Parts: sequence; structure tokens; C-alpha cells
Amino acid sequence: MSGNKINFDGQVAIVTGAGAGLGEAYALDLASRGAKILVNDLSEEAAAKVVSQIEAAGGQAMAFAASVSDEAAMQDMIAKAVEAWGRVDIFVANAGILIDRSFSKMTMAEYDKVIDVHLRGTVCGLKAVWPQMIEQNYGRIVVTTSVAGLFGNFGQTNYGSAKSGLVGLMNTLKIEGEKSGIKVNAISPGAATQMTENIIPEPLKETMSASRVAPAVTVLCSEDAPSGVILQANGGIFSVAQMVLTRGAHLKGDIQAEDVQAAWDEITNPEGQSNFATANDQGADFFGRISGG
Ligand code: NAD
Repeated sequence: MSGNKINFDGQVAIVTGAGAGLGEAYALDLASRGAKILVNDLSEEAAAKVVSQIEAAGGQAMAFAASVSDEAAMQDMIAKAVEAWGRVDIFVANAGILIDRSFSKMTMAEYDKVIDVHLRGTVCGLKAVWPQMIEQNYGRIVVTTSVAGLFGNFGQTNYGSAKSGLVGLMNTLKIEGEKSGIKVNAISPGAATQMTENIIPEPLKETMSASRVAPAVTVLCSEDAPSGVILQANGGIFSVAQMVLTRGAHLKGDIQAEDVQAAWDEITNPEGQSNFATANDQGADFFGRISGG
């Protein structure tokens, strides 16, 4: 059953890497709900095409071709959006690339390049938009993670590092943005795009279309968005990924490695495990437990 209609009239959204694939689908859904969209992509042509699609459907959009890891360009991008439309409510950090290689064969240049686009590229955009969101006392940020970062994937040490790094970024930003009405979430998508062209079997491509992921991002961009959630959306299945800490074993007195080894079953027992909202919450729980000695 559908909930209340989500509407972005009067709001401004920026989607990076929106010239194709998932970013394009996000931009189109946000635009169809009234948001003015700045379409960023490395490719000027691809960004312009998405702008034309939005305009043809009666929406407002502008293209901004630049790399997300160009710090000055990201500052300029936010300035352009504010100059044209007065604010930026939504920032979806989506741009990405893959350079897959087993760790043995991966060069540092290949590692750095992927970190530069996904992790540092997201930070460049967010550093630029953050003061604007603080000033507005409102913001919705979506960073893009991946099962490769959450769970691991062969040949993706660079990509996995960046994608789990983005969860770490979200975890702290959600705390720092809270008093300013800024909500920060992560999407973990799965879709048939140019990035996954050779991975997703042909018969599943329709089920796994980017337009079936976009509704998840739209929810994370809405006024009623949660904060600090990792939302997985793939082929119509929507779920949440969480970092948990087991209750563990509380060993007393002098502790030797063999004691830790002997307590392994208790340390790893998932019963009673917690997903803390912040490190402070975890600290409160921890200090409460050890204060007894
Ligand atoms: P895609 O390759 O179809 O689209 C990515 C877009 O980003 C392209 O238009 C590209 O030109 C642009 N881009 C690349 N580098 C850029 C840069 N430096 N600055 C600006 N734009 C840049 O990929 P996609 O499948 O739509 O992926 C979008 C995001 O979702 C990526 O962050 C990706 O890692 C993530 N993701 C995708 C999947 C999936 O199943 N497709 C799964 C997990 C995560």
C-alpha cells in the first residue's frame, strides 16, 4: 500500500554521476516530484541529456560537468545551484567507477583512483554543500555504499574500502548534522547499469532496473527521512544493513590469549547483540558493564 505522496516542490537537489544509470533514475524520480535538479556528471553530453529529459517532462534542471573529486569544481557547483535556485536541500553522492583487480595485482594508483572518486569525491561535494545546509537548517544527504564494502567482494579492495568508508562518514555526519535538521543515509543499490553490464544476467535486467532502486533514494531524500540508515534496494527487495556488536564475554582479572580463545563461542554469540546509534551510546553501555570491575 502506498503512503503519503512524497513531494519536493520548492526544493533543490544535486545528484552526482547522474548522466546515466542509477544517478539518472534518482534525478528523474526527484524531478518528477517537483525538485529542481542539478545534474552532475563527468560527461557533459550525458548530463545535458538528462537535463533535456527533465525539461521535456516540465521540470527544471541544469547540467554541471565536473569530476566529483575536483574540490574547486564542487565548490563552484554548489555556488551555481545556490545562485540559480537559492538553496540546496538534497545531495545524492552517487558518482562512481570500478577498477577491479585482485589485491596481489592492484597498483597503488588503481587503489587511489577508486578512493579518490568514491570516498574523497563524496567528501568534496559534502564539504561544499554542508555550510549551505547548516545555514538553511535543513538537508538530506545520501551517500552510496555497496555490498562489496559491507560484506566484501573478490577483486574490490579499493572499491570496498571506499564503500565502507562512506558508511563511516555517514555515521559521524548524521551526528554532526542532527541539530541542524540534516539527515544522512546510505543507499546500497543493485541495478543493471553500464557498471554491472557483464555481471547481471540478461533475464534479470528488467527486474533489476535502476528505476526500481530510485524509490528508496527518494524516501531517504524526503522530509520524513530517517538518519544513519543503510538501505539496500535491489530488484524490488528493500532491506536494512546494520553493524552489530555482540554482547560478548566479560573476562575478569588477568587475561591471557587462551582465555579469549576459550570464550570464543560466547564472544561470537549473536544473542543479545546491539546496533548502537552512536559511539557514545556504545560507550555508555560499555562503562555500565565494566564499572563492576
Ligand atoms: P554507472 O557507471 O552506470 O554510472 C555512474 C555515472 O557516474 C556515470 O554516468 C559516470 O560518467 C559518472 N562518473 C564517474 N566518475 C565520475 C566523477 N569522477 N565525477 C562525476 N561523475 C562521474 O554506474 P551505476 O551502476 O549507476 O552506479 C552508481 C553508483 O552506485 C556508484 O557509486 C556505484 O558504485 C554504486 N553501486 C552500483 C551498483 C549496481 O548494481 N549498479 C551496486 C552497488 C553500488
